Amino acid sequence: MLQKPKGTADILPTHINRWHTIERVVRRACQRYDYQELRTPIFEATDLFVRGVGQATDVVDKEMFTFYDKAQRSMTLRPEGTAGVVRAVVEHKLYAAADVQRLYYVGPMFRYEQPQSGRYRQFHQWGIEAFGSASPLLDAETIALGHDVLTQLGIAHAALEINTVGTAAERGRYAQRLRAHVAPIADQLCSDCRARLGRNPLRILDCKKDAALLQDVPVLMDDLGAESIAHFEAVCRHVAAMGIAFVHNRRLVRGLDYYTHTAFEWSVPVDTFGSIHAIGGGGRYDDLVAHLGGPHTPAVGLAFGIERLARVLDAQCVGERPMLDACFVAMGDAAVEAIVPMLSSCRRAGLAVTFDALHRKPKAQLKFAVRAQARYAVIVGDDEVAAHTVVLKHLATERQQIVPQEQLITMLHASEE
Ligand code: AMP
Repeated sequence: MLQKPKGTADILPTHINRWHTIERVVRRACQRYDYQELRTPIFEATDLFVRGVGQATDVVDKEMFTFYDKAQRSMTLRPEGTAGVVRAVVEHKLYAAADVQRLYYVGPMFRYEQPQSGRYRQFHQWGIEAFGSASPLLDAETIALGHDVLTQLGIAHAALEINTVGTAAERGRYAQRLRAHVAPIADQLCSDCRARLGRNPLRILDCKKDAALLQDVPVLMDDLGAESIAHFEAVCRHVAAMGIAFVHNRRLVRGLDYYTHTAFEWSVPVDTFGSIHAIGGGGRYDDLVAHLGGPHTPAVGLAFGIERLARVLDAQCVGERPMLDACFVAMGDAAVEAIVPMLSSCRRAGLAVTFDALHRKPKAQLKFAVRAQARYAVIVGDDEVAAHTVVLKHLATERQQIVPQEQLITMLHASEE
């Protein structure tokens, strides 16, 4: 039997409503904060991710879906959204606009990871990016938008951690100090961390295997200059003023290379996905636009995993199939003919209605109406055809009444919650 590729998922009709709920909430929230959608290609030149995400990251080092096209150019299915957005901002000179550019995206991403609960090879992200301002208020606004979406989805209990990773120069100084501190115990570290120590030492801070060994490492805060500290303090002040709870996690670093200053992450209790608990995160990346060929343009963004949001909603039983307004039950050939124009006029009037396309016996049609989660069954037999009426049955209470056909739409609309 043919099967879907490892690490991918079919989103079945039983689940799609959760996805629609998330996408609706996300798009409305973006609109309220004046973010506009940008759609970029699903594959890009491999070099974009090598330069934009960072050679020494797990994503680029181990997880890219890379292939050669027919002209032997190396292409990669995008593993994250920011690099493509920045490429588009540079290519279309969106940075030249007088105002801050606030952009968002929703779509599939690809990482060749070991699949497990909550971790896929094809997954979906919603992300936002704002270009053109170094104001700490924009960092706070980014966090507020993420927080609003979580609140509207009923996931306000997610824990928010914030940290600063300073500037590239400050991080460089800290990396040297960290390396020197860890050198005496380097041979006790896991093989991943030994490799990271050479190329990307900050990443050892969030290694779960070596957490106990690395408890007393120096903290990055001590290498930060006054400007970086002032920026971080302003972000924390603004986030607090917005009424958003968070903790300062001094060891929070993010997986991708391009962050400067603010880094933040939301997580849910570990048992939601086994060992994984991050649902979204982001930060400031003031150097990336210049790094990818544009002028110096400060920027800040975030990304959430939609599968993970959907899983949290699953656990909370939120966003199940929406109710249909009515299901038609037609008893006999004349009744089938009679419901045809009624179905059309109901749908044109904005009502969600269906009928049993298997034309089963009336009892089975009524059972189908219940399974389809219709509010009403609209029952039509020979008598109703002759009298131009229908029997309108409220399925939850089983109350029924005879209604003239021309009043059906008004009755269904009037009873909408
Ligand atoms: P990142 O781009 O690594 O910061 O990831 C941002 C968010 O995307 C994470 O918090 C997850 O919710 C989601 N995410 C990242 N990788 C995966 C994956 N392999 N499968 C499902 N969701 C993921």
